[in-house]
Amino acid sequence: MNHPGTVYIVGAGPGNPDLITVRGLTCLREADVVLHDRLIDLHLLEEARPDAEIINVGKESGDEDLQQEHIHWLMVEKSRQGKNVCRLKGGDPFVFGRGGEEARALWEAGIPFEIVPGVSSAIAVPAYVGIPVTHRDHAHSFMVITGSRSHDLQSPEWQAAAMLARAGGTVIVLMGLSRLSSIAETLIAAGCSPELPIAVVSRGTYLIQDCRTGTLADIAQHVTGLKGPATIIIGEVVSLRNQIQWMELAAKFEME
Ligand code: SAH
Repeated sequence: MNHPGTVYIVGAGPGNPDLITVRGLTCLREADVVLHDRLIDLHLLEEARPDAEIINVGKESGDEDLQQEHIHWLMVEKSRQGKNVCRLKGGDPFVFGRGGEEARALWEAGIPFEIVPGVSSAIAVPAYVGIPVTHRDHAHSFMVITGSRSHDLQSPEWQAAAMLARAGGTVIVLMGLSRLSSIAETLIAAGCSPELPIAVVSRGTYLIQDCRTGTLADIAQHVTGLKGPATIIIGEVVSLRNQIQWMELAAKFEME
């Protein structure tokens, strides 16, 4: 039997291919096999070796658990063939990326692996639109929560999110665009001010990023036509964007 290859579970960053880490890029450049997600920028794949096997394992609609099992099987099989595998995932592999399950499957199969953290969209997308997730004068904590798990947004974690927003912390919601109205209504019903600032950012970290802002009360009217992936940021820090939206400022300097 071949000596098993190592599987590198690599965070590719939030979208813009420049935001992968040095370690992540090294793993990608050296891999025999690249297994990548749907949200990966295809320019990154040009970094792989010309003879590398590149497999898109992005989830299609259907049984997600079954597809996840298939990814585990592929990683184990390729490693047992003696190949080094780069498992390239959007953002950070352990932030809503099922990276923990993948690492566990490798551990169970006795396959050597390494985790390469990535720049998560949870903080990078706000940064690219000029929103610091914490600020000494505004928010001393932030929380990242998924909008897709609790059907009625009444889970204990969503209750905690409402409490945090009410207390002045920043709440960042991933996978929440399709439920934006319910999220805003739930937070108001839980005692948040209807005037609390909120931003919804689509295709963050790209030149074409689209940031819509408003308040909990009116944000639903500002997001027409907005497509995913999108990150939602809720809290007073959103108002700092007026001074910090550096990408727009840079474009303005260039025009002058
Ligand atoms: N592991 C990833 C998150 C995976 S969940 C990370 O750490 O970034 C996928 C969600 O991330 C999307 O539904 C969206 O909410 C957010 N997201 C990913 N890329 C994004 C981008 N370029 N702009 C805005 N949101 C993004």
